[in-house]
Amino acid sequence: MCNETMYDLLYVGIDDTDSSEGMCTTYIGAVVMDELKDYGFKLIGYPRLIRLNPFARFKTRGNGAISFKLVIKSKEEYERAKNLILNCVEELSHLQEENTNPGVVFYKINGVKDYNKEISEVKIQSQLENFSLNAIMNIVSIEESEKLAQEIGAEIVKFKKGRGIIGALAAIGCPLSDKTYELLSYRTPENYGKKRKIKYHSVHEMNKKTYPQTFDNLDEEEGYIAIEPHTPCPILYGIRGETANAVLEAHNMVKTYEPIERIAVYVSNQHTDMHLINSNTISQMEKYKSYITNGTVTDSPHIIEGGHIIFSLEDDSGSIECAAYEPTKGFRNVIKELKKDDKLKVYGGIGEKGTLNLEKIEILEQTKFYKARNPLCKCGKRMKSAGQGKGYKCIKCGFKLRDGVKDLIEVERNIKKGFYEVPPSARRHLSKPLIRIKK
Ligand code: ATP
Repeated sequence: MCNETMYDLLYVGIDDTDSSEGMCTTYIGAVVMDELKDYGFKLIGYPRLIRLNPFARFKTRGNGAISFKLVIKSKEEYERAKNLILNCVEELSHLQEENTNPGVVFYKINGVKDYNKEISEVKIQSQLENFSLNAIMNIVSIEESEKLAQEIGAEIVKFKKGRGIIGALAAIGCPLSDKTYELLSYRTPENYGKKRKIKYHSVHEMNKKTYPQTFDNLDEEEGYIAIEPHTPCPILYGIRGETANAVLEAHNMVKTYEPIERIAVYVSNQHTDMHLINSNTISQMEKYKSYITNGTVTDSPHIIEGGHIIFSLEDDSGSIECAAYEPTKGFRNVIKELKKDDKLKVYGGIGEKGTLNLEKIEILEQTKFYKARNPLCKCGKRMKSAGQGKGYKCIKCGFKLRDGVKDLIEVERNIKKGFYEVPPSARRHLSKPLIRIKK
């Protein structure tokens, strides 16, 4: 006799709750989850922080959306959870801001036998996965999101324009074959907007002990602490790493002079390069999308106003302007050294002006560079010109060479083949750091 208990699993997605004035969707997620737990709900696995297309028009900062899942045993429980979540979103969201248009999605999977399975093992509809990939690589509409929700039987709740349903659906459906974790610690409300009080020395110590299991803690070149945001949001710091344990251990090493209200650990597609589309043809690449593509440098990089470095890359189909913008700091010193005919693999996204904003490059082949020098004398000394059309003479031994030709000497390049990346301070949330690629 089979006596298995069946449960319903409720996936909840939330997005577009904050504004440039403050708040953060991850914080609302943390508050909602803590309240659900206080009311006896069972949450399963780690909540997810999913970064979407960095070129989405209405993003506030990093285009992040969140989702989590909980066990539901009855219709009443479903309604109770839903009300609690919606009240919290309504209360904490920056609804007064024009561009804050929260969306919440409830997607229920009935009759799950083992709710401890990871999200990917419990069958998420492939349509939802595809939608999510699309929201990470392309631009999607509210209408498309509504259509999908109807098709898969997800319930959507829109506040104002409800644009957040795009991110909320994507955060539920995103496949996570590669993943990282982020531990977020939140400030108490009286400290919002004030200077963050983190003991910087403890962050250096933490980095020494936990890197590369945690990464992007410091920007060594710029000499600043990268775990600390510079916006008035509720986050005190965020530690990114390979495992939940790694970020929790690192958090225990960081000391602060101000209280921490709560923490949350999210599993994430951050730093996985999930936004990058492999492209074989430069001419087919489009604005507001991010790519990996190969090409040949067609001109020597040049600096433009604002300190940005620009060069062109071409393949058989066409060419594109590539940029290392000023905030990429020392990365520009590498880009400056590129020469015509160097062969590269570039990683980056195409913005409003059609320029590819570089996140990292791999130098595949370097063109050889030569300098012409007078020929060497048999005595070992380099010869001097003997005058127009008269060949060369040696000032040491007097030897003359009437029809000597110049030697071509290869000049050593200042950069080598291999990967180069922007510093942590300029890194996109989705961009995979080289330390993760090496692993
Ligand atoms: P934060 O990172 O501080 O939480 P944010 O940068 O995530 O803020 P949001 O306030 O969430 O910005 O606004 C982004 C909006 O763009 C959301 O409404 C989201 O649903 C929508 N969006 C996300 N991805 C896409 C996309 N690919 N196409 C169109 N809209 C998108």
